Amino acid sequence: MVTTLEPMTYNFEPVNLTPNDYKSDLKPIWCPGCGDFGVLASFYKAVSELHIPNEQLVVVSGIGCSSRFPAFVNAYGFHGTHGRALPLATGVKMAHPELKVVTVGGDGDAFSIGMGHIPHAIRRNVDITYIVMDNEIYGLTKGQASPTSPMGMERKASPYGTVEKPINPLMLVLATGATWVARGFSSKPKELTELIKQAMEHKGFSFLQVYSPCTTFYDTYDHFKHVTKPLPAEHNSRDRMDAMKYAMDEENLYLGLYYQEERPTYDEAYAAKRAANAKQDYGIKEIMGKYMR
Ligand code: SF4
Ligand code: MG
Repeated sequence: MVTTLEPMTYNFEPVNLTPNDYKSDLKPIWCPGCGDFGVLASFYKAVSELHIPNEQLVVVSGIGCSSRFPAFVNAYGFHGTHGRALPLATGVKMAHPELKVVTVGGDGDAFSIGMGHIPHAIRRNVDITYIVMDNEIYGLTKGQASPTSPMGMERKASPYGTVEKPINPLMLVLATGATWVARGFSSKPKELTELIKQAMEHKGFSFLQVYSPCTTFYDTYDHFKHVTKPLPAEHNSRDRMDAMKYAMDEENLYLGLYYQEERPTYDEAYAAKRAANAKQDYGIKEIMGKYMR
């Protein structure tokens, strides 16, 4: 039974469900204490508070510990190939623009093999949400340095310490034109739930980096508790340069909404082009005929 609901631009009949209604029959097999549990719990809460019907929700992932996420959600899901979550999610959204599409994955999947897809999803402004669970390590393959690992990380695969500077995910997406950018922490469930809700309500490509520590290979809970803090109240989330200023701070890792703007989405722009050129739409016969004259 639907009762009073918060305002939101629904293109579906909203439902009143509890977070438990979004749990699948599969129990997460993450290690005890893994930050991904916190992200999943906040996600269940967020989608229940957004009143999204299970059958209107799609969760798409690549490969990695966090990419197991779709299996634990009672919704449509696609556990894809390594680094290819964004093209898959874009395809889902283009084929079914009425669905809420969320892409999830880790820092290795997103910023290594999948890196090339991020700027293109951003410039298209595909109406999907991308949640990156960043633990600054490859967890599934047993603890190699990832693109966000700090310089000098010593591991079995880098016994003398890494020499690469880590990438800055927020600077990457701000510089390439993302229309919604935020950072959360798995140990701040209330704030994280709010960020996931806002990300999913945003019309366009929303990017949410979430610190989600790996208790087995790189336990950063204490570190993040010390260095994270909320974005200052005076921060103007409509000012991209201001957002970049805070994103560049390497000592204070700010949590919250960095940036937001509205611009046409890929699916809208594509539909508009098709409508404007409807008269010139040819069937396959006409197209072949045109070139075989
Ligand atoms: Fe989580 Fe790390 Fe275990 Fe993977 S290896 S499930 S990231 S704690
Ligand atoms: Mg990782």
